[in-house]
Amino acid sequence: MSTANAIRNADLEGALAEARETYTRRRPESLARHVEAAAVMPGGNTRSVLYHGPFPFAVVHGEGCRIRDADGLEYVNLIGEYTAGLFGHSHPAIRAAISRALDTGLNLTAHNLLEAKLARLVCERFPSVESVRFTNSGTEANLLAVATAKIATGRGTILAMQGGYHGGLMTFAGGGNPVNVPHKAVLCEFNDIAGAERLARENAADLAAILLEPMLGGGGCIPATDAFLAALRRLADETGAVLIFDEVMTSRLSPGGLQQATGVIPDLTTLGKYIGGGMSFGAFGGKQALMAIFDPRRPDAIPHAGTFNNNTLTMSCGITALSELYPPEKAVELNARGDALRERLNAAIRSRGLPAQVTGRGSMMAFHFTDQPLRNATEVGAANQKLKELLFLDLLERGYYIARRGMIALSLMVGDAECDGFVGAVEEWLDLRAPMMTA
Ligand code: PLP
Repeated sequence: MSTANAIRNADLEGALAEARETYTRRRPESLARHVEAAAVMPGGNTRSVLYHGPFPFAVVHGEGCRIRDADGLEYVNLIGEYTAGLFGHSHPAIRAAISRALDTGLNLTAHNLLEAKLARLVCERFPSVESVRFTNSGTEANLLAVATAKIATGRGTILAMQGGYHGGLMTFAGGGNPVNVPHKAVLCEFNDIAGAERLARENAADLAAILLEPMLGGGGCIPATDAFLAALRRLADETGAVLIFDEVMTSRLSPGGLQQATGVIPDLTTLGKYIGGGMSFGAFGGKQALMAIFDPRRPDAIPHAGTFNNNTLTMSCGITALSELYPPEKAVELNARGDALRERLNAAIRSRGLPAQVTGRGSMMAFHFTDQPLRNATEVGAANQKLKELLFLDLLERGYYIARRGMIALSLMVGDAECDGFVGAVEEWLDLRAPMMTA
């Protein structure tokens, strides 16, 4: 390591140690809650992404776009439940939708009048979705979409992306995860057309599906190029594989998701997050011919079970979410706000000449500490990760909550005042920490 690098890293380590100390000192109640929880849950945690060092803070209340922790500290929530919290905390229209569902009765144990209404809204909205089925999570939606592709093609291999995230049981960060379902997956780098062509052709005889997020979400908010999506569409057609877009996160990025925005239409789409209005939600849908295998009127129907698939709470909130709170014009407006915010953050970085950038599209974005082009998750991983922790901890002290990995997902509750305040906080941070970023 060069002397300059050693000094820079020492400074960064020192700043991180101080930031962790400040974090801990200001949050005795959160620490106590964490210790209590750790006695009955591994690490006090039931959702890995929410854990961060030194210990996670415990939130006791949320309203609009703001949350308050057990120590009374307030934050603007800029991560918005990793895209599921599009409507902020306890939106009055969602409260009313829950109330209507309660009036009708929970756990009706039968088909109800809400499920087809939500299904129609979903089919009308997303170009590839002619027919849809509901699940309880995006994870389940992807498991079922891949199963559908395997059944439809009679093949077993899926082509997925390095760093792709399709739920807790199908994640390809770092090449895979021991809890993944045992599908045979071959992985190519995101945005690597030549790599995808080679893998698709090598595996053509057994290729059931090509599965990707049209923008890597958890992998760092890296959009697919139009050429990459078009190449994958071509490869699916050429090999007879099913093209699956995981739009669990990205469906919010235009009125009809990234498939509508890019014009590349997959065979199957998976959905989740905000569409359930904040309740547990997932859906998979696509061509009638593919989805028809689940038609229970058929003697050869494939069963797809799920006690809560049509639960009235989710169905009611989903209808309100799509029809009332996030109609097409709201999607356009929110994503324009996101584009403007990202541009302002990048302008602040550029004007200081710092090796950093904010990638993404519309209301989803992520900080990265490199000035090199970022096309895939491997390049994202090669950037400086320690600065992300420092940014995260320092922004908490300024009252802004972004994901520990640097991601932001705007909710409809984040307004101009919050965006202005956040840009100011980031500018201040860039000025303070610039010496740690430059060699
Ligand atoms: N697919 C993508 C792209 C996601 O980002 C996520 C969750 O973050 C999932 C699938 C899984 O959704 P869920 O957490 O509802 O299981």
